[in-house]
Amino acid sequence: MADEVKKAQTAVAGGDTIFGKILRKEIPAKFVYEDDQCVAFHDVNPQAPTHILVIPRKPIPQLSKAEDADEKLLGHLMIAARKVAAMQGLDKSGFRLVINDGKDGAQSVYHLHIHVIGGRQLKWPPG
Ligand code: AMP
Repeated sequence: MADEVKKAQTAVAGGDTIFGKILRKEIPAKFVYEDDQCVAFHDVNPQAPTHILVIPRKPIPQLSKAEDADEKLLGHLMIAARKVAAMQGLDKSGFRLVINDGKDGAQSVYHLHIHVIGGRQLKWPPG
């Protein structure tokens, strides 16, 4: 079983997370984009030549806990992901956005994030 999937078996929702610490700059990350609503930084364990996480400043734990009122923010995250992909030169070759949700979705960090993955031919279906 992959490491991330193992972690997801025991990860618990709620409270502060490592991404909260990254947002507050308490622990380092390689930031590639920031605005008033979200930040993006390199994943510490990249699954492809480009692997970046886009996270909202608002600590929504997971997509299934987002509210209807978060509609604009969720759209904003998607646009930020598009900008990040273009900044990384992925807009011509293509890329993939992933949101893992909960245990079966193999979510290991309970602060909503969009994975921006690219730079190689990705396979389908995912594991
Ligand atoms: P998920 O499994 O969808 O919850 O994804 C969490 C992601 O966060 C994984 O791809 C991890 O490699 C990544 N991650 C965990 N800690 C850090 C960190 N300190 N800096 C950057 N990425 C991290």
